[in-house]
Amino acid sequence: MTTGTVPSITAGTRVYAVLGDPVEHSLSPQLQNAAFQAAGVDGVYVALRCSDRTLSPLLRTLAENGGGGNVTVPHKERAAALVERPSAAVRHTGACNTFWWEEGRLCGDNTDVEGFREALRLLRGTDTTEERILLLGAGGASRAVLAALLDGEGSEVVLLNRTVERARELSRELGSGRVQVAEEVGALRRESFDVVVNATSLGLSPRDPLPLDLDGIGSVDAVLDLVYGPRETALVRKARASGLPAMDGREMLLRQGAAAFERWWGRPAPLAAMRKALEDASGGPGVEEGGG
Ligand code: NAP
Repeated sequence: MTTGTVPSITAGTRVYAVLGDPVEHSLSPQLQNAAFQAAGVDGVYVALRCSDRTLSPLLRTLAENGGGGNVTVPHKERAAALVERPSAAVRHTGACNTFWWEEGRLCGDNTDVEGFREALRLLRGTDTTEERILLLGAGGASRAVLAALLDGEGSEVVLLNRTVERARELSRELGSGRVQVAEEVGALRRESFDVVVNATSLGLSPRDPLPLDLDGIGSVDAVLDLVYGPRETALVRKARASGLPAMDGREMLLRQGAAAFERWWGRPAPLAAMRKALEDASGGPGVEEGGG
């Protein structure tokens, strides 16, 4: 169990936790305890390693006692099946990352969807409903990205994944006719995209190859990498070196955490304090504009 800095704890303190396995690397305790302190709410947030067997009792016990929390790998899909009042984002993605108690029911949301939408809006400086997006990856994070992109009217998505069949399945399930699957990267040589989104796990290790050779694509305006680490990812570094605006995954992490705070406490999240806590915990600013 890990904790960040917490205010004085009493019998009335509401307990929140991130449930996952592994969970030791999670930045959510620093992020949320800073938010609780800045907002002056009586809560504490911890990280708990959790198995398939303990997920259901932990969700219910934390929530029914006035708290709640987040769910991370590998439990997001099971949590979606366990919550009694799933949000539209949970139903759409089949994944739940935030839970709490309301009107006698266990409620769940997938704030990764809102987190991505907000990060993209910040990167592009506008509401992005008419854009052409190249989405790399077809796992859990891609589902949240697709749910956010296809919620608006205009975005058109090209999906590229190492395992093409998995991309086809995702497109059939969520695509509503607006998602094209690229069979291979070579097919994109003359294609133009407003944004490339990396939702593969490539970039977590400094030894990983780039998820995409940006020079192999016709044209790209900006890059949003969902991956984050102590330093900028290789993809973000490469994009910025080419003069492209680029952002790593910390902004999305911040925004999904802010949305979760708002579900739990029913008030706006203290974004500046959360951003500072994330920067302190992860070694520097996550959002920078590339400029050549
Ligand atoms: P996941 O469900 O395991 O999916 C992993 C994806 O990466 C799959 O599309 C997989 O392709 C691809 N991939 C893995 N290794 C690869 C390789 N060597 N070459 C090419 N493609 C490879 O994982 P996830 O939950 O979607 O998470 C993906 C990333 O997003 C992680 O780094 C995670 O930390 C990040 N993320 C960030 C946030 C945030 O708030 N910033 C939120 C959620 C996730 P195949 O289908 O071919 O296996």
